[in-house]
Amino acid sequence: MTKEEALKKYFGYDRFYPLQAEIIDHVRAGKSALVLMPTGGGKSVCFQIPAVMARGVTVVISPLIALMKDQVDGLQANGISAAFLNSTQTEEESRDVYRRCLAGGVKLLYLSPERLSAPGTPGFLRKLDLTLFAVDEAHCISSWGHDFRPDYLKLSLLREQFPSVPLLALTATADRVIRRDILRQLAIPEPHAFIASFDRPNLSLAVYSGQKRLEQILRFLAQRKQQPGIIYCLSRKTTENVAARLTARGFRAAHYHAGMENDERSKVQEAFIRDKLQIICATIAFGLGIDKSNIRWIVHYSLPKNIESYYQEIGRAGRDGAPADTVLFYSYADVKTHHDMIRDAAPERQELLLAKLDRMKRYAEADICRRRMLLSYFNEEPRGDCGNCDVCKNPPQKFDGTVIAQKALSAVYRTGENITMSTLIQILRGSHSASLRESGYDRIKTFGAGRDIPYGIWAEYIFQLLNMGCVDIAYDEGSALKLNDLSRKILKAETTVMLTRPAEMEKKLDTIAAPAKAKTLGADGLFERLRALRRELADKLNVPAYVVFSDRTLLEMAEARPRDEADLLSVSGVGEHKLARYGKAFLDAIRRHGKEES
Ligand code: ADP
Ligand code: ZN
Repeated sequence: MTKEEALKKYFGYDRFYPLQAEIIDHVRAGKSALVLMPTGGGKSVCFQIPAVMARGVTVVISPLIALMKDQVDGLQANGISAAFLNSTQTEEESRDVYRRCLAGGVKLLYLSPERLSAPGTPGFLRKLDLTLFAVDEAHCISSWGHDFRPDYLKLSLLREQFPSVPLLALTATADRVIRRDILRQLAIPEPHAFIASFDRPNLSLAVYSGQKRLEQILRFLAQRKQQPGIIYCLSRKTTENVAARLTARGFRAAHYHAGMENDERSKVQEAFIRDKLQIICATIAFGLGIDKSNIRWIVHYSLPKNIESYYQEIGRAGRDGAPADTVLFYSYADVKTHHDMIRDAAPERQELLLAKLDRMKRYAEADICRRRMLLSYFNEEPRGDCGNCDVCKNPPQKFDGTVIAQKALSAVYRTGENITMSTLIQILRGSHSASLRESGYDRIKTFGAGRDIPYGIWAEYIFQLLNMGCVDIAYDEGSALKLNDLSRKILKAETTVMLTRPAEMEKKLDTIAAPAKAKTLGADGLFERLRALRRELADKLNVPAYVVFSDRTLLEMAEARPRDEADLLSVSGVGEHKLARYGKAFLDAIRRHGKEES
């Protein structure tokens, strides 16, 4: 069997993703390698295909014990024999796995790193005909990373004990220092690193202004009924608040953070993986150990602390390759929160943290293609504008806003540079509030000078002025607005200011609220029907829904409407095993749907 035939037979895919074929040839030639691919890039296939093509056993080391069962279930659903050994098993179960391996009945054996170094394991492995070691989440070997696992240090022993068995180290963490660490510790020669593009074209990117977030989220969710997604929040309290408010509106939502009991956390995670919960409101603690390929959207309730975290978090959406949407809410209050948190960090780290925050902030404020910015941040050359971000979809329309800027800056000047953005807007709009009267702000010349502009639009304009450096904000003085040299030039009419039209901003919100490629996401109801069938089958087998078929496969089925087994087999993601197991049920459902329509 060729590797292409194996890909079709077991996984139902017609083509390899970039680098998969090269990597498979490389390890089949007996050489070790490092594989760097973004989440969803298809790392597993790189060791699963060599595993099914060879005679022996492929040992997969993974720190994510909670995932092993799902991974083994996933392989078995494709007709590949697999097993795992970790601390969640009874002695009896382990013995059974040993027996099956020795009898040659297992192609892929998943091992936790602590199990690898347990007495008896090396002896057991020596008795097997080993094809390959695959080290998943290989960045855990580096003490420079955020996921360091001391047990991973012992992996270097594998190279000494089994010098003739090739080793494949896989990770989605692109950091150069970590990369070098992996190569060195696992004795992989530098040229044997395969680095895929980190672009994820199926993820749409958008940044919304942080005003009225909950309202915006509800608008966003109204078009995403039943679609699983994650809302990332900065604080535990926010996760609880947002989840409670969504639950009150009838959504199946829950919160998740590091302050919860372990039990409760796993319960929430499990419910989400099994599609029993639609929405998780989580702090960054959520997602590391989850392998759910049908997450359709990610919302960042607040600005993440750096681009690395942001990219990793949005990367959890759309792993199946189907369209997924990501939205980031951005406000100056978030920047202040981060500044406060950084002030609590070790002094020698503060400069770096501030620089990273600044890059994040600039991303959120950008008016050039956002994917361009992300890829160049990761030192990758973008191929052009992406067409799948808010800036590409709605290029900002500029107009001369010098007079608007002058009104705002003059009010800042006349109040002694100690007012916040919201006080400034109240002054400009001529609000009759007691606090303005008490401070005498209702008597300054610019009071009411911007009555014609609604509050929200003023906030947008001032935002833009801040972003362009036309005015400063002092986080350490209660977020008071301050004039700078540029402000003074604007006030003296020595320079003009271009602002983005508010009408465009309204339009922007509307276009982004529409789900990615709404038409292909099962507009005619067949997709929903197939999802329901998948749910039913998965429940019966007690596996996550995506183990039966991915969203992408169901979408393709809904579109292609296969009539017989041969048609169905040509759908990406339908292999021989799944065809035999589920083919009839899905063909029946498609046929019934067609009849009801006509
Ligand atoms: P990673 O571990 O890199 O995040 P996975 O190995 O989980 O990625 O693969 C992500 C998804 O893409 C899975 O649903 C997988 O079955 C699918 N996939 C992998 N290779 C291909 C391919 N060549 N064609 C289509 N889908 C693929
Ligand atoms: Zn773009």
